[in-house]
Parts: sequence; C-alpha cells; structure tokens
Amino acid sequence: MNKIIVAIDGYSSCGKSTIAKALAKYAGYTYVDTGAMYRAIGLYTLREGLKSEQDIIAALPHVQIGFIHVDGMQHVTLNGEDVESLIRTLEVGNRASEVSQIREVRQYLVAQQQKMGEQKGIVMDGRDIGTVVFPKAELKLFLTASPEVRAQRRYDELREKGETPDYEAVLRDVNERDYRDTHRDESPLRQAEDAIVVDNSHLTREEQMKVIYDLFDRHK
Ligand code: C5P
Repeated sequence: MNKIIVAIDGYSSCGKSTIAKALAKYAGYTYVDTGAMYRAIGLYTLREGLKSEQDIIAALPHVQIGFIHVDGMQHVTLNGEDVESLIRTLEVGNRASEVSQIREVRQYLVAQQQKMGEQKGIVMDGRDIGTVVFPKAELKLFLTASPEVRAQRRYDELREKGETPDYEAVLRDVNERDYRDTHRDESPLRQAEDAIVVDNSHLTREEQMKVIYDLFDRHK
C-alpha cells in the first residue's frame, strides 16, 4: 500500500497534536510534533540564558533533538534528556515562538523534519508543514478554531496539569502567539493553497475525527 505524507498546520491550541496523533494511530503512521522541536530549542535557550540571535544560532550545533516512546506516548528529547513535561509551559511556548522567528533555527529544524519524511508514512503537525517542509504532501489540513475556544482549551489543559492560569492572560497569549506566527518574516503561518480547512470550534472530538479519517481514506 502506498504511504503518504499528511501535513497538518494551524493556530496554537486548536488541537493539532491530538488530531495528528489520532490520525497517525489510525493510519499506522509515525507522528512528528514539530512544535515540540521548537519548544526544545526554546527550553535550551532559557536554560543557557541565550538571548541574542547570534548566540542562539551559534548554539544550534550543540542542540540535538530526538523523539522517544514512553508508555506508548511520544516524548521529545534534548541532548538525550526527556524534556516532554518541561516544554509544555506558557514560558517555553512563548520562547519557542520567539526562537522560531530566526531563519537559521527554522532551517536547522526543517532539514531534520524533511529527513523524517523521506520514507513517507508520516503525520507531521506545525505551522509551515504544508507550505515549506512538505509542499508536495499528498494531504494537507489547515485547522482553525476561534481564539476564545482555543484559549478555553489551553486554560483547561493547564488546570489539569495543576497550574492556576488566568483565562484573560491565556487568551492574550493565544492572540499574541497568533500574531507572531502569522506576521513573522520567516515562514509565517498561512494556509497552503491546496490545504483543506477544518474549523473545529463547534465540532466534538468524534465529529472532527470522522471528518479527518474520511479525508485520509480518500487521499491515501
Ligand atoms: O505547536 P506548539 O504550540 O507546540 O509550537 C510552539 C511554537 O513553535 C509556536 O508558537 C510556533 O511559533 C513555533 N512553531 C513554528 N513552526 C512549526 C511548529 C511550531 O514556528 N512547524
């Protein structure tokens, strides 16, 4: 059976990774969370106190990012250390969004991502997958949901983790990140012309997955 590449792009907190993971399982494909790669670099720069673009670029050869499986879940590693839980904070998310604006950081990660897709059979999610990483992907999905719905989801997620977020701050953060992601010079978030838009603001998880599994079955 022919394997394809599925590129999933969209705004932050619109459920990309949940959908991508479920689809990868359904298809028997490998899932790659590219946001986790930007987050791992963000964590590295925070830990090392790297602020200038120049210092961040110089550090790239010392940053090895990988993925491992722990209890059936994918965890990202930074120089061999499992940093999965450390990268899922607002602070690291914001830093990831900042470092992702640096051209060399993007080039460094895009090259690794393209290598991961050489054998196809991959579901990759991010911001530039259908436009830059795999412009020839057989199936491109662009996910959206309203900022308020996404902020509420992010808020619920943080609460579940035991954090005590402020909804207004989370909403502000969602809007700021959207702005940065869509206005940066390097590979801004935009919908590929041939991407299929799925607005999940008012879809249940089951409804949404049905739409996506059907799309996959028609493209594979
Ligand atoms: O998807 P996630 O929120 O984990 O991504 C963290 C940040 O990394 C995003 O806000 C975005 O700025 C950046 N990113 C990116 N390109 C990707 C994936 C993520 O610029 N392919």
